[in-house]
Amino acid sequence: YTQAKALVYSKYGEPKDVLSLHKHSISAPHGSQVNLRLLTAPMNPADVNQIQGVYPSKPPFQTTLGTSEPAAVAGNEGAFEVISTGSNVKNLAKGDWVIMKRTGLGTWRTHAQLDESQLIRIENKDGLSPLQVGTVSVNPVTAYRMIRDYCDWDWMRAGEEWLIQNGANSGVGRAAIQLGREWGIKTLNVIRERKTPEETEALKQELKELGATAVVTEEEMLTGNFRDIVHEITRQGREPIRLALNCVGGKNATALAKTLAPDSHMVTYGAMSKQPVALPSGLLIFKNLSFDGFWVSRWGDKNPELKENTIRDVLQLTRSGRFKDIPVDKVEWKWDAEGPQLAERVQGTLGGYRSGKGVFTF
Ligand code: NDP
Repeated sequence: YTQAKALVYSKYGEPKDVLSLHKHSISAPHGSQVNLRLLTAPMNPADVNQIQGVYPSKPPFQTTLGTSEPAAVAGNEGAFEVISTGSNVKNLAKGDWVIMKRTGLGTWRTHAQLDESQLIRIENKDGLSPLQVGTVSVNPVTAYRMIRDYCDWDWMRAGEEWLIQNGANSGVGRAAIQLGREWGIKTLNVIRERKTPEETEALKQELKELGATAVVTEEEMLTGNFRDIVHEITRQGREPIRLALNCVGGKNATALAKTLAPDSHMVTYGAMSKQPVALPSGLLIFKNLSFDGFWVSRWGDKNPELKENTIRDVLQLTRSGRFKDIPVDKVEWKWDAEGPQLAERVQGTLGGYRSGKGVFTF
């Protein structure tokens, strides 16, 4: 038996109110089962929305882990190490690193027992860290697919074309910057102003070092002469902005859309400001802009092979040093960690202005 602990919830609410630490034991794996140990699991905004009960995918509440009430294990993404395998397991061995094939399996736990079919093996973990593997399947895949699948790829690749995005310092945003740099697409990045001008400048600089072509604040975008700024950096429109990536909504999203060249796309994938996206009719009528939405969970379920290829591609870039780690706020999950302590750390995920993404390590 392996002793295990999992952060579970049996009703929806704020993480600090509904998450609890459940201790249980895991038997030796049989058949195609695999026993796993946590390496790294991130706290993504969607994980918190799911615990709040406001996310469209809801893992079922079950009693399989022996909880007194039916419960779900929180967390959707993570890297795990194989510690033992059942006799029918074909493609995994002790010491392998794996990630989850789908979301909703529960990753905020020290150990797990899953079926081989639910896991993706990391083919070559050399040169990769648990953090890189544990955060590859949601943010980078989202950025990658939005850029590849929502614009005329050959057109975009011809160079001298731009994408614009808000939430540029997010995990997805940082991935989009680096993929843009790799693929020869210029990026115009919008961030929120920090507490001091120095901090704002430092963040702009940080994103430029990742490969951002230009970085502006939301305030700069929403006031005064942003039109002129865009006009200038796009060389009077000779370098058109073809794609907008929106994870904020509200006025910010409207401002992004206004910069787009005719026939371009805006892809909405998040709603951090909780404000609706409002679109001037002229953008639809005269500019023929298209507005799309992207959800990586649904995309991945429909395109499992392409998802694995996408992950492989990003990990290859990572290995070669061309895809940098996101800043993180590490929460070391020691064996004696208390539930409330861990839940408190989850609570901050949607807070904004964070120094890095929260990640559990064990
Ligand atoms: P991170 O946790 O890495 O970063 C959060 C981002 O949100 C930061 O850029 C932060 O900016 C910004 N933010 C927080 N609060 C607000 C606010 N009130 N108004 C404007 N911006 C805000 O996030 P992820 O990269 O993991 O996710 C970013 C977004 O993308 C989320 O909305 C998430 O749900 C969504 N997402 C969607 C996916 C999909 O398939 N549709 C997949 C992955 C992510 P600041 O530093 O200024 O606070």
